[in-house]
Amino acid sequence: MSNVSDLPKGDGIRNGKQYLEDLRDDRDVWIHGEKVKDVTTHPSLCRGAETLAGFLDRQFDDQCKDTVTYEENGGTYATSFMIPKSVDDIKKRGESAYEWARWSNGMFGRTPDYKNASVMAFAASAKFLEEGRPEFAENMRNYYEYVRTNDKVLTHTLINPTYNFEEAKQGRSSEKVALQVVKETDSGLVVNGARLLATLGPHADEIEVFPSSLLTANEDNLPYAFAFTIPTGAPGVRMICRDTYDHQKSTYDAPLSSRFEEMDAVIIFDNVHVPWERVFMYRDPLLCNRAFAETHAVVHMMHQVICGKLAKTEFIVGLLCAMAKATGKDKDMNVKGMIAEAMWVAETLRALRYHGESEAHEDQWGNYVALRRPLDTSRNTYPKLYPRLIEMIQMLGSSSLIATPTEADLGNALSEDVAKYFQTVNLKSEDRIALFRLAHDVAVSGFGNRQVLYERFFFGPQNIMASIYYDLYNKDDMMDKVTEILNR
Ligand SMILES: Cc1cc2nc3c(=O)[nH]c(=O)nc-3n(C[C@H](O)[C@H](O)[C@H](O)COP(=O)(O)OP(=O)(O)OC[C@H]3O[C@@H](n4cnc5c(N)ncnc54)[C@H](O)[C@@H]3O)c2cc1C
Repeated sequence: MSNVSDLPKGDGIRNGKQYLEDLRDDRDVWIHGEKVKDVTTHPSLCRGAETLAGFLDRQFDDQCKDTVTYEENGGTYATSFMIPKSVDDIKKRGESAYEWARWSNGMFGRTPDYKNASVMAFAASAKFLEEGRPEFAENMRNYYEYVRTNDKVLTHTLINPTYNFEEAKQGRSSEKVALQVVKETDSGLVVNGARLLATLGPHADEIEVFPSSLLTANEDNLPYAFAFTIPTGAPGVRMICRDTYDHQKSTYDAPLSSRFEEMDAVIIFDNVHVPWERVFMYRDPLLCNRAFAETHAVVHMMHQVICGKLAKTEFIVGLLCAMAKATGKDKDMNVKGMIAEAMWVAETLRALRYHGESEAHEDQWGNYVALRRPLDTSRNTYPKLYPRLIEMIQMLGSSSLIATPTEADLGNALSEDVAKYFQTVNLKSEDRIALFRLAHDVAVSGFGNRQVLYERFFFGPQNIMASIYYDLYNKDDMMDKVTEILNR
């Protein structure tokens, strides 16, 4: 594997065709018991790849290129790589994240701008990594230039599989399953073990293998304390995908799963060689534990996420309204009241986003970062609110979510029955079925249920995020109010 500093610098943004060509490498991807020859043609994976390729093409589209790209020294790059130096830069990053999310209404959750935010933040605060070794900071700056100029698509894998929960709770990893360094050589590290759960893994060019689980600082944990990146096609990197939710249905029958299948995969590292140039932290559990917070990578990621969740929630509000209107339920006070609840979620996210952006401030590295608390509030509440939004679709849709013939039934011997019995006061059958098939894909299908699980977990276990939120919250002012009245 070539050193990062020797790899060619690209011209910035890539188009979809270039992206698909780059996916055709020797990557070791398995699905449904078979090795995938080519992720761009495999029936379970190709439409997700095409969707992402289409999104990359939009970086060249006059309608949105000013939002999703920026210019620097004559080059054009994805806005998500832009190091923010002002409140306006933070707002531009937010607009870009919102635009990317709009293209799938948030249903392709893991667009590349999520991980770009993390790489950008680590590079912009690379001095932090000098605490480990001076060269680690330079490695990160070089890596950032490599992925930014080549517009690489990244996934990440942060979590070791849990072998024994008691052990995991104490901040220890299991030698049996967890990814660990098994050898050091002059040229790099050799790693072995498994990591969870790379969303977009088979469709990514690169994997960020960073620490997330909190590690206690003892000798036993040193082989588990590291941060590195590796190309998806590197020798020894193997991905085991979950079942696909793209069952090759038409876009009428499965409007979301036919387009937005972002595959998740467990990654096995089978004696993978990681060149030193791709290593950013090593044998320092406490530095690893501090990394996402002190570089503000976590805040930049939260910022990308809240913009995406806003786009997703606006779509769900629209869906609920359209469903209610189909049969005239939109005149009913109780229905209006329920949909208003979804509107409050959208407006709360909007307010939190704008609060975070407008109070962006300079950090200790001389870069700008959005205010953490509003974004963290969203990060902690959305995993609870999203399942409620889905419940609303189920409550409102009821049997209409299931009484949905397929596209084939619109033009066969049943077509007259279908045209007659599936119409509603406001929609002809074909449109009513299309609407409720869409709602089914959001709230009933395997695709939709995986979205719920994703929202519950992709940022980490809810109780751990809540406990961090509690620790960071400025409680003193509020407790003073209690003391004051007790002493009044
Ligand atoms: C659809 C989906 C996509 C994902 N994509 C990615 C990805 O792209 N990259 C990535 O790195 N990860 C990804 N994840 C993994 C995600 O980060 C983890 O699921 C999450 O951190 C929880 O870890 P776990 O799954 O091992 O569950 P567990 O650790 O088993 O947690 C399950 C429950 O145990 C409890 N728990 C866990 N740890 C503790 C503790 N220390 N103390 C007390 N209670 C605890 C919590 O209540 C938690 O809800 C994804 C997950 C899902 C479901």
